[in-house]
Amino acid sequence: MNFAGKTAVVTGGSRGIGRAICEELARGGANVVLCYAGRAEAAQETVTACEDLGAKALAVQCNVADEAQVKALMDAAVKEFGRIDILVNNAGVTRDGLVMMMKEADFDAVIDTNLKGTFLCMKAVSRIMMKQRYGRIVNLSSVVGLRGNAGQVNYAASKAGVVGMTKSLAKELASRGVTVNAVAPGFIETDMTAAMPQAAKDAMMPTIPMQRLGAPEDVAKAVAFLASDEAAYVTGQVLAVDGGMAM
Ligand code: NDP
Repeated sequence: MNFAGKTAVVTGGSRGIGRAICEELARGGANVVLCYAGRAEAAQETVTACEDLGAKALAVQCNVADEAQVKALMDAAVKEFGRIDILVNNAGVTRDGLVMMMKEADFDAVIDTNLKGTFLCMKAVSRIMMKQRYGRIVNLSSVVGLRGNAGQVNYAASKAGVVGMTKSLAKELASRGVTVNAVAPGFIETDMTAAMPQAAKDAMMPTIPMQRLGAPEDVAKAVAFLASDEAAYVTGQVLAVDGGMAM
């Protein structure tokens, strides 16, 4: 994929899938602006990895659930690189628990970051991309948003909501050269899934037709396609990257 001259903003780019996305876009020549919640060192490692690939990169601390911080993030990207061509809404959290035990704060925290954060970032770049008559927005949903999962009512709601927002904004921006798509990963090996008990991981394996966990790079390749010029006639779609889980 060729992203030369393009600027990408990737939320949650300090670790896991987000870092792999930053590296994939950097490999194609994009300027990369990544945001992170609190792990400055990890974010700096991503910056270095992008620079090692020959790209320019900038890390900005930003809570995506805070509109003022999101505006500051996008302002920083425009100040540094002059435009925003690609937005990847990747920042996400889990606060798992059965519904009877789930605290209101755990529901709100997941919705705030995963759903409201995606909304705020899409809102912040929409005007910029409309003016440019060019843009690529890629949102991270999940197999859980498509199929549900016991213990993840909050997370499933946020990721199903991301699908609804993706299709709605795709319709709003289609005539302006801006595409909006989602990727729905299955079970990917990152810090998020490392926290799961081994028994839960073992139980998951038979539900994956490919019988292996995904790597962050598997997701990054799909995101890069949807962020590329080659995907110009693809909008409002949800691409599952899950080894066949959600078939
Ligand atoms: P990780 O837990 O490994 O990384 C999460 C990233 O999000 C970090 O960069 C973190 O920053 C950042 N982040 C968290 N909260 C905020 C916030 N409020 N504002 C800004 N940044 C924030 O997650 P994964 O790489 O596993 O997941 C990435 C995305 O993919 C998420 O949206 C997730 O829901 C989705 N996904 C993951 C799957 C998986 O199996 N791993 C499956 C399906 C979907 P910091 O490092 O500073 O904490």
